[in-house]
Amino acid sequence: MSTPSRLDLSHELLVCVFGASRRLELAAFGLPGASWAVPESGLFCAEIDGQRCDAHAPGMVVHGVAVHDDVPGARHAVIELVHEEWGFAITFHLVIYLGAAAIESWIVLRNNGTQPLRVTRLDSLALELPAGSYELLAFSGAWGAEFEPQRAPLTDAIVLESRSGRSSHGQHPWFTLLRDGQTLLSGAVAWSGNWVLRFTPHDNGGYAFSGGMHDWQFAMDLAPGASVEAPPLALALATGHDLDATAIQFARLGRRYWYPHCPLSDMLPVEWNHWWAYEDRAIDEATFRANVDAAATLGIEVCTLDAGWFGAADAGTHWYEQRGDWDTLNSVRFPSGIRTLADHVHARGMQFGLWCEIEGLGTRARLAGARPDLPATRDGERLGYVCLGNPAGQQWAFETLDRLIRDYACDWIKLDFNLDPGAGCNRTDHGHGAGDGLYAHYRGYYALLDRLRETHPQVVLENCSSGGLRIDLGIARRTHMAFLSDPDWPEHSLQLFWGATSMLAADACLHWGYGEWAFAEHPHQRFNPRDPALQLHQIDFYTRISMLRRFGFSQRLPDLPDQVARRYAEHIAFYTSVMRRFVREADLYRLTGQPLREGRGDRWAGFQYALPDGSEHLVAVFRLPGAEPERTLRLKCLQPDRRYTITWTDDDRQAHASGDELMRAGLIVRGLPEEGSALALLR
Ligand SMILES: [Zn+2]
Repeated sequence: MSTPSRLDLSHELLVCVFGASRRLELAAFGLPGASWAVPESGLFCAEIDGQRCDAHAPGMVVHGVAVHDDVPGARHAVIELVHEEWGFAITFHLVIYLGAAAIESWIVLRNNGTQPLRVTRLDSLALELPAGSYELLAFSGAWGAEFEPQRAPLTDAIVLESRSGRSSHGQHPWFTLLRDGQTLLSGAVAWSGNWVLRFTPHDNGGYAFSGGMHDWQFAMDLAPGASVEAPPLALALATGHDLDATAIQFARLGRRYWYPHCPLSDMLPVEWNHWWAYEDRAIDEATFRANVDAAATLGIEVCTLDAGWFGAADAGTHWYEQRGDWDTLNSVRFPSGIRTLADHVHARGMQFGLWCEIEGLGTRARLAGARPDLPATRDGERLGYVCLGNPAGQQWAFETLDRLIRDYACDWIKLDFNLDPGAGCNRTDHGHGAGDGLYAHYRGYYALLDRLRETHPQVVLENCSSGGLRIDLGIARRTHMAFLSDPDWPEHSLQLFWGATSMLAADACLHWGYGEWAFAEHPHQRFNPRDPALQLHQIDFYTRISMLRRFGFSQRLPDLPDQVARRYAEHIAFYTSVMRRFVREADLYRLTGQPLREGRGDRWAGFQYALPDGSEHLVAVFRLPGAEPERTLRLKCLQPDRRYTITWTDDDRQAHASGDELMRAGLIVRGLPEEGSALALLR
């Protein structure tokens, strides 16, 4: 490490300059021509032994600076600050990405003294925002109601946070600030537990912004020589007021630097999952096999056995109560075992997926009695999960999943998590303290996921949590996709996709077509593929919404009407041969506002997938009930002088227009019924 007086990480898209001679000072941060932070910025915020501390704290001295360039396209600055008197060091990490106006930052605190330090807050980034007129955009998240938009002028102090113990139950860990209607800053916390983002006004019209892991109920006693790492906070900046400008940066960075990859995941296989049509009560060996046979004829590529396979040998058990007993098999439902089902799937040329809630611990699971060291508890009461802050719990979880993958020949594991841990475990015999159980659990869960991928690099990991209640850039670095929500009725599904792609690439998202809910009651989940009144355009509408990302079905397949099955097979063939390349590689532009549940929001939805080299585009259009009959979609990112051929895939109808015409006058869509859809290829 050296101690240069100035550290300039700027490139053509980003200004990022520090003074680092003795004190660390932010000299400039923002876009060329649009500052996003003033030099008073504290850069981070830690609370140690009750003292608030940032880069400007008296006694905080730069000890060394290093810049690592070993990852192509990313520059990682590591700035070590030492506080001699208080006996600790804070390492400020900042990664800038070439080709993007984006950064991520986090801190690591180390106890250099001889006494334990009490750590009660670790904000990964703290900036002083310049004076301006700000609007704050965010999303709240609840079961079946993920990605509900919030938009308000930033006038008073606002705190965005999750205290549920899951990153997107309450609020999604994402925000955007729009300043003076002219420039955008979007941010996301890469953490799956509780997090916080604080916006506090100053008298001069500026704002203090600070955030990262939540300090609520958090306390850690840091032993001499020990260190603690706070999770990253990522920011993307853009000129203008179009959210796609920051969303596309997050998606590109995700694909290139953050998301894990494996061949099966990268293929974006089409999935069938048994859950909604059968749940646990109606699934059994013969039923699963019959669906697998039907799935093969449709062109489906992965068949997933969801909950219901484990627990007591009893057809009447309920999955939720039995979670934890993953070494048991419900042999009444599956007398030949799970491996024979996996072999059957493989024999049909498909891959086998298995659901497991490895953290979950049901009230009737024998595990809690057999392994009293494993349950997470708070004040002596069980919280309903296995604490992975406990190394023994982590080892048990790894061995369990490792065995399931090997014994059952799994190609895909759907990892669910159906409870709110709140502030987490406060047992003191797990190796963590009473105040950092949730932090330790998520560190343990991340370590488990990393070890699983290392041990089984070919296995796909799906992230689910009561649907979409734990979606964030932390778990996105360790699983291959996020399941967006349990319900999937059309306008809900479009709302989610519009919202989720503010922070995730389309190929980091999975959601099924309109599911067939045979047992669970939901006012909007009424889809019956066997309804004789069902029309072709409705089938297309429901199915194509799922094709916007990773694509799948949760329906009863063996007795689908011929017309429906034939149409599904055609959609699957189009997805695999044409569309998924766009989902995997293209930049996504949202051409309409966000459709919202209950008839709110935009009643048209349009999405444009632009391949990075600009050679081809795919446009998907949906007309929701209540929509006006015609909509003009102004396309984006075309070459103004190029002549494009637009081919509508339903009837091969062609039209021609220049890029300039399509961007300024737009593409007029008419003639679609309500619940109608269309796909167009532009070449
Ligand atoms: Zn614990």
